[in-house]
Amino acid sequence: MSKLKSSESVRVVVRCRPMNGKEKAASYDKVVDVDVKLGQVSVKNPKGTAHEMPKTFTFDAVYDWNAKQFELYDETFRPLVDSVLQGFNGTIFAYGQTGTGKTYTMEGIRGDPEKRGVIPNSFDHIFTHISRSQNQQYLVRASYLEIYQEEIRDLLSKDQTKRLELKERPDTGVYVKDLSSFVTKSVKEIEHVMNVGNQNRSVGATNMNEHSSRSHAIFVITIECSEVGLDGENHIRVGKLNLVDLAGSERQAKTGAQGERLKEKEKKMEDLRREKDAAEMLGAKIKAMESKLLVGGKNIVDHTNEQQKILEQKRQEIAEQKRREREIQQQMESRDEETLELKETYSSLQQEVDIKTKKLKKLFSKLQAVKAEIHDLQEEHIKERQELEQTQNELTRELKLKHLIIENFIPLEEKSKIMNRAFFDEEEDHWKLHPITRLENQQMMKRPVSAVGYKRPLSQHARMSMMIRPEARYRAENIVLLELDMPSRTTRDYEGPAIAPKVQAALDAALQDEDEIQSGSSSSSSGTPASQLYPQSRGLVPK
Ligand code: ADP
Ligand code: MG
Repeated sequence: MSKLKSSESVRVVVRCRPMNGKEKAASYDKVVDVDVKLGQVSVKNPKGTAHEMPKTFTFDAVYDWNAKQFELYDETFRPLVDSVLQGFNGTIFAYGQTGTGKTYTMEGIRGDPEKRGVIPNSFDHIFTHISRSQNQQYLVRASYLEIYQEEIRDLLSKDQTKRLELKERPDTGVYVKDLSSFVTKSVKEIEHVMNVGNQNRSVGATNMNEHSSRSHAIFVITIECSEVGLDGENHIRVGKLNLVDLAGSERQAKTGAQGERLKEKEKKMEDLRREKDAAEMLGAKIKAMESKLLVGGKNIVDHTNEQQKILEQKRQEIAEQKRREREIQQQMESRDEETLELKETYSSLQQEVDIKTKKLKKLFSKLQAVKAEIHDLQEEHIKERQELEQTQNELTRELKLKHLIIENFIPLEEKSKIMNRAFFDEEEDHWKLHPITRLENQQMMKRPVSAVGYKRPLSQHARMSMMIRPEARYRAENIVLLELDMPSRTTRDYEGPAIAPKVQAALDAALQDEDEIQSGSSSSSSGTPASQLYPQSRGLVPK
C-alpha cells in the first residue's frame, strides 16, 4: 500500500496499550515486552513453567505504551494516505480484542490534538495536502457504513432501517449498493459527516460498548484528483481510503457477500453511477473553482503552508530514518544471532571435547581396574586349576585301586550285575543301585555253579581235595554219618485191675441193655417210651 521504499503491500504494525487503572489496581502481570527498535514483541506465558521462554514475534513496526498518536501517524499511516492521494487504494484497520485500543488508535480522543487517532489525523492530512496543491482539483467524498450481525447499514442514510447489499463488479470489484456518499470540502465538513454517522451508529444500540465490539465500522474516503497533464488533457485519478474499526476479534462477526441478485440490472446501474459520478465531478470542478479552500494557489496562507510542508517533509524524513534504523537494527540483530550461534557451536564443541575427555579418563581408569581384576581372576583360576588337578590325581589313584580290587576280587558276572544296577543319583550326588528286578531275582535264586550237586558252593580246592582224599574237612556236608544206637526194652505190657464179685455184678447190671429195664409209665402216642424221658431209679439207691 505504501508507495515508499517498502515494496510490501501489507504492513502489520502492533501497538501495545498501557495498563488501565483497573489492571494496575489488580496488579496484573505484564506479559508483553516490546522492543521498538527491533520491531519485536515478546509474549510470555503466565501459566508456563519457569524455563519456558517467551515467544517473540517480529513485525513491520511495533509501538509500546509510550507511543504517541502522531508518531504512529507519521511513521505508519502518512505514507499510506499519501499514496491514496496519488490515486491508490488503501485500507487501515485495527484488529484486536475488545478493550485493546482499536477505537483509541482509529479515532482517539477528538478534542485533544495530542490524542487524535488515525481518522482525524488523516482528515487533516488530506485537506492540508489539497490546500497546498497547485494545478490540481480534488473531489473528496465520504461514506460511512456499519456491518452488524451480517447486515450492512448506511450510517449516513436518512432511513436507518434500510439494509444495503454487497455486490461485486468484474471491473471494480466488491461494492455496497446504494451506499450514500457526501462531498466534503473541509476537515470540518468531513468531521461533521463522521459525527452524523457515529450518532446513527449508537442509535438503537442499548449498550454502545457491546454494539461497537460486535460491529465493524467502515469510513470510506474517496479522493478524486483531476490534473491537466503535459498533453494538455485532463487526467483524473481516484484513490480510496478505507478506515476500519473492526469488531472485537474475540467474536468474529460474519461478513460476506450475499448472492448476486439482479445481475442483469448491473450494467445499467454501472452506467447510471458513472453518469452520476461524472455529474458530481463536474459539479465539484465548478465548486472547486469557486472555493479557494480546495484549490491550492498563491494566497496569504501560502507562506505558512510552505513552512508546514517543510516541517512535514522533515517529519517524514525522520520517520523514514527511524524505519531504516529499525531495519538496520534487525539486520544487525540477525547477524549478532549468527555470530552468537557460531560462538555457541564453538563453545558447545569445546564443551563436548571437555566432557568427552572427562568421560575418556573415567573410562580409562575403569579399563585399568577391569584389567587388574581380570589378572587377579586369572591367577585365581590357575590356582584353582592346580588344586583341582591335584584332587583329580588323588581320585584317579583311588579309582585305580578300586579297579584293581574289583578286577581281582569280584567275579566278572557280579561286577557286570552291579554295573547294570548302578546309577548316579544327581540329586543326592551319590551312586546308587537299582532294586533287583524279577529276572535278576530269578537269576540270583539259581544255585551258583560252584554249588551244583552240593548244598552250598564249594571252592575248587575243596572239590579237588574231596576227590583225592575223602577227608571230613572238605566234605562240606554230612560230614559225620552215624547209625542210631537203640536201647533194649525194660517195660511190661499192661494188665487190667482185679475187681470184687459184688462190684462186678453192680457194674454188669449198670451196663445192661435198655430193653430189659422195666418202665412204670404208659406208652405214649409218639412212640418214644416215657421211661427214656424220665429215667427211673433201678435200685442202686434203696428207696
Ligand atoms: P477497543 O476499541 O479495542 O475495544 P478502546 O480503544 O475502546 O478499545 O480502548 C479501551 C480503553 O483503553 C479506552 O479507555 C482507551 O482510552 C484506552 N486506551 C487504548 N489504547 C490506549 C493508549 N495507547 N494509550 C492510552 N489509553 C489507551
Ligand atoms: Mg472499540
